[in-house]
Amino acid sequence: MSSSFLNRLSTRLTAAFIFSAVLGVVLVAILTYRYTSSDFSTFLTNMQGMQGMMGGMMGDQTFAQVEQDFLGSLRQTLWITGISGVVIAIALGAVFTRQIVAPLGKVAAAAGRVAKGNFKQKVNIGGAGELDQLGQAFNSMAATLERDQQLRRNMVADIAHELRTPLTVLQGNVEAMLDGFIPADNAHLTSLHQETLLLARLVDDLRTLSLAEAGQLEFRTKSVNLRALSIQVVESFRALLSAKHIDAKVDGLDNLPEVGADPERTAQVLRNLINNAIHYTPEGGKITVRVTSDTGGVTVSVIDAGIGISLEDLPRVFDRFYRVDRSRTRSSGGSGLGLAIVKQLVEAQQGRVWAESTPGKGSTFSFWLPLAK
Ligand code: ADP
Repeated sequence: MSSSFLNRLSTRLTAAFIFSAVLGVVLVAILTYRYTSSDFSTFLTNMQGMQGMMGGMMGDQTFAQVEQDFLGSLRQTLWITGISGVVIAIALGAVFTRQIVAPLGKVAAAAGRVAKGNFKQKVNIGGAGELDQLGQAFNSMAATLERDQQLRRNMVADIAHELRTPLTVLQGNVEAMLDGFIPADNAHLTSLHQETLLLARLVDDLRTLSLAEAGQLEFRTKSVNLRALSIQVVESFRALLSAKHIDAKVDGLDNLPEVGADPERTAQVLRNLINNAIHYTPEGGKITVRVTSDTGGVTVSVIDAGIGISLEDLPRVFDRFYRVDRSRTRSSGGSGLGLAIVKQLVEAQQGRVWAESTPGKGSTFSFWLPLAK
């Protein structure tokens, strides 16, 4: 909203006030003049008749004079009232217009500053009317924009940081090979290949996460048996489980109700949780996937007897790029996006996810999904 727009609005509002006031005053004046003069004329005629019967005290001339005096003073009164009405209308119109246009001007000015990227702008209109509600709606919009901008900035910084590490490793190794410091043999190339796989996974995870956060992931919801899906996912980890001598089993009744979910996305949730459980469980440990139901849905808990998570880290493990052990190299760990993806995928399917843990004893990551309709 530009100031010329506000000036035009102000002029139009004032003109509308004055026009309606003048119209009202003119209408009242015409009607009053018309009916009062004809009523007064009837009254005088009656008086004249009565006087004729009583012998006549006033002549025709005197009645005409009285009528003329009366109408003259009526006209004068109407003029005075009319002009005062119009003056009051102009004054009130100007006041009301100011009351409407001034807050709009504040919002317009703040919107202009927000458009230039200054999201700290707040408008304070005061009062309890619709214009104050407009101000509050504007403030909450500016706050949301500010938060989104902050999140975007943090995300870009995080991504840049995460991509930098594997790229530096790759760059350093390739340069060392080119300079002949390390041989370009099978072992070194395999390790470089491993690094490119991690990089590709990081990019894939980022893509999934950003699509999920933007609400642009497609979910093909079907009736899903979470116990059967859990067994299938655990089986897909069989080689890794045997390599670490970890005993994994799925607990749960055969006849559990089905949930309404996308089987592929829910399998990804399970894969991320089971992968973490395997990763943070020492060799020879145990993992249980427990599936239980309540009236509204089904809960899957991935229970490990691994290293556990401290109370202060627990609330942050679902944040993107959050890793408890920051110094851990990426090759031994993941992208730090696994649980953030789990949270997005579960919540996008109207579910909930949570974690419980005792350091040194193990962790339980659970998610709940609503029953199929
Ligand atoms: P990452 O890819 O690094 O595993 P996640 O988002 O999957 O990232 O997990 C975030 C962090 O939460 C991990 O770095 C780890 O510190 C912690 N974490 C996740 N699952 C477990 C678990 N089962 N036991 C112990 N710590 C865990």
